[in-house]
Amino acid sequence: MWRIAGIVFFLGLMVAAGAAGQSGEDETETVRVEDSKGVVTYATDFSKAFGGGSLSAYRGDSKVEVPFERIAVLRTGRIVDSRMDVGLVLTTGRGLQVQLDRPEFESVYGGLTEFGNFRIRLAEVKSIEFSRRQKYDQSLGQRCPSAHIWYKETWRFCPYDGKALVPVKRSVPTTEEPRRR
Ligand SMILES: [Zn+2]
Repeated sequence: MWRIAGIVFFLGLMVAAGAAGQSGEDETETVRVEDSKGVVTYATDFSKAFGGGSLSAYRGDSKVEVPFERIAVLRTGRIVDSRMDVGLVLTTGRGLQVQLDRPEFESVYGGLTEFGNFRIRLAEVKSIEFSRRQKYDQSLGQRCPSAHIWYKETWRFCPYDGKALVPVKRSVPTTEEPRRR
C-alpha cells in the first residue's frame, strides 16, 4: 500500500516538473494576431483551444510537428484542395514552408486580451507573431511604443492606448564604448 502511494507521489512530482518546464516561468509570451479582415489583436496565453503544443503540418512528403515555442511568425496562405499553405519563420530565423490539412487549419485558438477572451479559427488568421521575453527588473517598469511607462508586472498592454508593453532594459555599460582619456 505504502509502496503504491510512493509511486503515485513520484509520478506526481514528474508531471509537476514537466509542466513547470513547459510553461517557462522565466518567460512571458505575447502574440499579435492579424485576422483575414486586417483586424489586429494582442493576446497572452495564446494556444490551440483543444490540446496540442505544436502545429501538425506536411512538409513535402513528410509529416512534421512544429512546437509553437519554436515559431516566431506564422503566415497563412491560400487553401487549395483542402490544404492550406503556411509560411513559418522559426525562432532561429530560418523560414519553413508547410501545408496544413483541414482539421489543423479549422482548429480554434484562444487567448486573453485586455477586453476578455479571444478566439479565432486558424483559417481566419492572416498572421501570428509571437514575442517572448525574459522576466525583467520590475523597478524599471514596462514601456509602450508611445513611451508611457508602467510598473505593474501583470499588465501586457498600455491602459492609455492599448499598445503592447515591453520591459525597460537596464542599460549595460560595455567595454566597447569609447572612453575619454
Ligand atoms: Zn501608451
